[in-house]
Amino acid sequence: MAVTLGIYYITPWLRWDRGPHAPDQAVLIDMANRRFYFFFVEIWPQEFIYIAGLLVMAGVGLFLITSVVGRAWCGYTCPQTVWTDLFLVIERFFEGDRNARIRLDKEPWTGSKIAKKLAKHATWLVIAVATGGAWIFYFADAPTLAYNFATGQAPFIAYATVAVLTATTYVFGGIMREQVCIYMCPWPRIQAAMLDENSLVVTYNDWRGEPRMRGQKKAKAQGLLPGDCVDCNACVAVCPTGIDIRDGQQLECITCALCIDACDAVMDKVGHERGLISYATLADYNHNMRVAMGGENSGAIDPSNVRDQNGNFVDAIRGFKWREMLRLRTIIYTAAWAAIGIALLIALGTRDRLEVNVLHDRNPVFTTLSDGSIRNGYTVKILNMVAEPRTITLTLDGLPGAVMAINGIDAEPGTSFDIPVEPDKLRPLRVFVSQPRDMVAPGSTPFSFIVEEGEAGETDIYNANFEAPE
Ligand code: SF4
Ligand code: SF4
Repeated sequence: MAVTLGIYYITPWLRWDRGPHAPDQAVLIDMANRRFYFFFVEIWPQEFIYIAGLLVMAGVGLFLITSVVGRAWCGYTCPQTVWTDLFLVIERFFEGDRNARIRLDKEPWTGSKIAKKLAKHATWLVIAVATGGAWIFYFADAPTLAYNFATGQAPFIAYATVAVLTATTYVFGGIMREQVCIYMCPWPRIQAAMLDENSLVVTYNDWRGEPRMRGQKKAKAQGLLPGDCVDCNACVAVCPTGIDIRDGQQLECITCALCIDACDAVMDKVGHERGLISYATLADYNHNMRVAMGGENSGAIDPSNVRDQNGNFVDAIRGFKWREMLRLRTIIYTAAWAAIGIALLIALGTRDRLEVNVLHDRNPVFTTLSDGSIRNGYTVKILNMVAEPRTITLTLDGLPGAVMAINGIDAEPGTSFDIPVEPDKLRPLRVFVSQPRDMVAPGSTPFSFIVEEGEAGETDIYNANFEAPE
């Protein structure tokens, strides 16, 4: 919770020096200028492939984690779980543990009860506002937006976003909680397909817990042989989704492992080994169940099959081995994840930061000038994708005798022009290409616009067409 909340709230305030011509916010989704900044990486809209690649990596990573440790995403990093946990901490702080809260809810509305409830809801609201507030800082310079927001000068969309996220955080994290996981989230349904019998899932180990019994000393004195579960219900009391893990695997279990901690504490008190509830694979569980049932696949669990005379587990009982994580499925997921990551890194490291795009005029497609030469009009867009001003050379190539003239550039028509382009900007140019009549080929003739930048040695080529009468 501390790590994920820390990342969420602190990230927009991290600075990253990109020079005087680019924002210094380390992570910024600059909607106005259509840029995404992530530390040393800057993504333009046409480079969305990198974001798509990251999303694919996140998806494959989720498959990998799920096939190894079940719903670890749900239990540890899903925002719904993290904020629900945070709201629970606040609730415990003001109203006490579960039993105290049940007592409080049954009490009449005294001043003390009202004060506790008010304090809890007010703190929840402050957290909800901070959650929405942190979100908008990802979309603009955080210190400037914070000042503008506090002084009423921020755009309406900022206030609207904070209002919506405040409401959803308060309702989902404080009021609905696990109902979101159980009834609204599609992930529990999908993830079941990714688990196999070697995936680690939170498991109640019936083979050592049953027959569960309270008052075990008394039971033993009466000649009964109880399992390790003392039927204290601590695991049920802490479960945020309100299930009893002793009933077996359930869709509602988000693998938060709170029941493991609660049960371990109980095992410490009663003097048994920890791990009555533990991360276990279905394969190990089934094996141990067969041992507990005397080698059968069904029947009653007999604790004397599980422990020897000294109370230790018999050798046949199997525990988790780390090498069980290395399976064909997890190896394929890891290889796919790494391959996409390496491909993205190579593509990022070798991409050009100079681009040219050209749009041919549609109407008219060509013009015949008074001397008989043919002229075509183009919109040429030169993209300087670095945070420094650069002079880009635009060259016309492959059209015999042709010259170009550029609106706004006071120079004789020619085949090459030096064009200054501002840092991190696109410069659109109106370009007119003319070819002498005697050199014009009928119909469509391919040629190229070439942009070059000397210092970085970058080049980009756009293959265009010159249109003439048939
Ligand atoms: S059963 Fe255990 S791991 Fe699953 S949600 Fe409940 S407390 Fe968390
Ligand atoms: S916390 Fe452990 S001992 Fe207590 S009821 Fe749950 S499984 Fe049994």
